[in-house]
Amino acid sequence: MLIDIHSHHFHIQPGRKVLFNLQATSLIDVQTSILKYEDNASLSLGIHPCDASLWCVNDIPALNPFFSDHRVLLIGEIGLDKTSSVPFDLQKIVFEIQVKMAEQIRKPVLLHLVRTMSEIFEIKKAHQGVPAWIIHGFRGKRQVTGQYITKGFYLSFGTMFKEEGLLACPVDRMFFETDENTQDIKFVYERAAKVLGCSILELESQVEKNFNSVFNK
Ligand SMILES: [Zn+2]
Repeated sequence: MLIDIHSHHFHIQPGRKVLFNLQATSLIDVQTSILKYEDNASLSLGIHPCDASLWCVNDIPALNPFFSDHRVLLIGEIGLDKTSSVPFDLQKIVFEIQVKMAEQIRKPVLLHLVRTMSEIFEIKKAHQGVPAWIIHGFRGKRQVTGQYITKGFYLSFGTMFKEEGLLACPVDRMFFETDENTQDIKFVYERAAKVLGCSILELESQVEKNFNSVFNK
């Protein structure tokens, strides 16, 4: 089973497990869009930092029944983005509310992070009840990879990953994703296996193990 931890394109393909991302832009939107998915769908759901100003902060806890839905495996993508026009203080408030909610229901978080290393380290330290922190679309080089690994993060590599970053990531901390890309996840695994000098099958079973250790705790 090839696991795609983060995709914006809903598709069902044999031999693939795709976690489809629902971007929460409003409560009504979440209520109606979640209805479309089958009982066995795998989803991630959260307020993207670039959407933080669409929400009244007091309405965010109303997402709780949806975050608790059995199809929602990951809370995300949530995070912090210093390049976004949304005020950073607001992003931080919206992010931390969702991190607290994830902590309460014990679900892992999927992170969108741009230039916010020190802030995320602080926030992670303050919320140790979150079972796992996965950084999506990771494109860091060797040194940055090492810093995140030391702090206990999982890293998800997409089509644009840096080889030195992948090589610096322990195999038990990696995931793969297609994100906005419509490409088959197989191509990401193919390239990664080549860089790592292993077979696709070996990588596939390692990522399955990683998935089980994050989600079947
Ligand atoms: Zn995405």
